[in-house]
Amino acid sequence: MVSGYMALLEKKYLDRLDDRGKEYVRFAMDGAMRMDCLIVDLLAYSRAGTASLDPKPLDLGQVVERALLNLGPAIEESQAQIKVSDMPTVAADATQMLQVFQNLIGNAIKYRGEERPVVEVSASEGENEWEVAVRDNGIGIPPEQQHRLFQMFIRLHGRSEYEGTGIGLALSRRIVERHGGRIWVESDGKHGSTFRFTISKDLASAARTDEDCAGQRND
Ligand code: ADP
Repeated sequence: MVSGYMALLEKKYLDRLDDRGKEYVRFAMDGAMRMDCLIVDLLAYSRAGTASLDPKPLDLGQVVERALLNLGPAIEESQAQIKVSDMPTVAADATQMLQVFQNLIGNAIKYRGEERPVVEVSASEGENEWEVAVRDNGIGIPPEQQHRLFQMFIRLHGRSEYEGTGIGLALSRRIVERHGGRIWVESDGKHGSTFRFTISKDLASAARTDEDCAGQRND
C-alpha cells in the first residue's frame, strides 16, 4: 500500500515535485520495498520454527533443479556456471529444503568476486547422514566472522555493496537443525566459501521442534 501510493504520487504529481521531492519519493519507495523483503523473510523464519514438518522421501536433485529455476534471473544476469553432482533422496520437507538450497546457491552467486561465478553443489555419504556442500569462487568469508553468520541480521557488508536482510543463513540453520542436521561454512577468507550441512539418513530423526535444537546451540 505504501509503495502503491508512492507510485501514484510520482505518476500523478510528478510535474509539481521539485528534484528534492522526487528524491524523497524514491527513498520512500525504496524503503517500502526493503520492508516488504524483510517481512517476507521474517515470516519464512517464523514459519520454519513453528510449521509442522512434513518429511517425505525427497530427491534433493529435483529440489536443486527447482531452486535453480527460481534463481534463473540471477544466474542469467551473472552468467554463473552451476555444477550439480549426484544428489541423494532423503527424508525432508520439500518447501523448507528448497529454501535452504535457494539461500545457499543465491548467496554463492550474490557474493561473487571479479570472476564469473562457479557454484558446485554436491553430496557425500557418511555412515548415518549425508553431507551436502555448496561451494563458490566468490569473495570468501574471514574465519573470525564465520560463526556469526548464522545469527539473525548479521551481515558483513553494507546495503550499498550487496542487498539483503541478513535472515537467509539464520533461516537455513533453523531448517537444517529441525531436520536433525548441522550447518557450517569453510573459507580462508579469500578464495570462495563452502557451505556444508548434514541431513540424517534416518527418517525418524527428522522433524525436531525448534526447542530441541535450541538446547544444542550455544550462541
Ligand atoms: P543476506 O544475504 O540477506 O545478507 P544471509 O543470512 O544469507 O543474509 O547472509 C549473511 C551474511 O553472510 C551476508 O550478508 C554475507 O556477508 C555473508 N555471506 C553469506 N553467504 C556468503 C557467500 N557465499 N560468500 C561470502 N559471504 C557470504
